[in-house]
Amino acid sequence: MKKHNFSAGPCILPEEVLKEASKAVINFNNDNLSLIEISHRSKPFINVMNNAKDLVRELLNVPQDYSILFLQGGASLEFLMVPFNLMKINGNASYLNTGIWSKKAIQEAKGFGKVTISGDSSDKNFNYIPKNYEIPDNMDYFHCTSNNTIYGTQIKNFPNCKTHLVCDMSSDIFSRKIDVRKFALIYAGAQKNMGPAGATLVIVKNEILGKTNRKIPTMLNYQTHITGESMFNTPPVFPIYVSMLTLKWIKKQGGVSVIEKRNIKKAKLLYSEIDRNSLFNGTALIEDRSLMNICFLLNDESKKDMFDKMCEDAGINGIKGHKSVGGYRASVYNAMPIESIKVLVDLMRKLEKN
Ligand SMILES: *Cc1c(COP(=O)(O)O)cnc(C)c1O
Repeated sequence: MKKHNFSAGPCILPEEVLKEASKAVINFNNDNLSLIEISHRSKPFINVMNNAKDLVRELLNVPQDYSILFLQGGASLEFLMVPFNLMKINGNASYLNTGIWSKKAIQEAKGFGKVTISGDSSDKNFNYIPKNYEIPDNMDYFHCTSNNTIYGTQIKNFPNCKTHLVCDMSSDIFSRKIDVRKFALIYAGAQKNMGPAGATLVIVKNEILGKTNRKIPTMLNYQTHITGESMFNTPPVFPIYVSMLTLKWIKKQGGVSVIEKRNIKKAKLLYSEIDRNSLFNGTALIEDRSLMNICFLLNDESKKDMFDKMCEDAGINGIKGHKSVGGYRASVYNAMPIESIKVLVDLMRKLEKN
């Protein structure tokens, strides 16, 4: 039997997507060729790329004046590409510091200009989202992380900012409705809610590019990939194909709003048990709790070995918390069925009864 996969990333994908993907590796489109051995310039693959982009546009309602790109290098390369493409020479960008991923983004931006930290939750080990912060005028852009995968916090209300809003949505893209119009640039590594590692989705408003007078290396210039339609060089064909299948699956479920309702229900089930159960405590501030990564501590360490063994026996995988938070982290991405969460909740109840 398949395990209950609570891994934070790479992570669970829909079963039917994995089945279809594995078929395509051997025989794609019944052409007696593998998807990964055909030219990326061939019609069958160009169709995959176009389908993937069309699905992104449809599912997130992306306006026509935004480009949709599939790049490589993960979200981590976007930490660099964003300032390279958007920060003016001697410019200044504003960042929200909400965890390790934000910090890494900030570190990269510092190589390009001044960085203003407008909000920072490091004082409480990032267990909340800063609020009521000011984004100074004359910033080249404001950068935030929508979902903090490690700490289990999530931005519920994005700021209305006068400058370009840039967001790392690696761990919650397609998990809830967003108003793309609010953002100038969105990026997300594929491996949390979309597909295998190796592709990065970028959604960028065309008019914000080409304004910095910086000389940008070809591969790091968003314009290269817009002009090349994500085919300037060989794209990561397999991750893009599997992402396309996942997006199709989301559409089949009824789209992002149906997925969002499900995610709320799933998260509620686990959070209510954490709050009810005398043995467990949630780590994130309640109002900022993530729907994707649910972090909690066992407050009686003497029961840890027993609980871990129970989880293992029940086929639960990947719930160990990140070392900077400790305890447990249940990642309940789009493809996670509520049945798996019920298995975990039952174990928590059992442990309390023992
Ligand atoms: C996983 C993750 C990253 C890093 O992504 P890579 O694709 O490994 O570079 C960045 N930001 C967030 C929010 C993440 O969850």
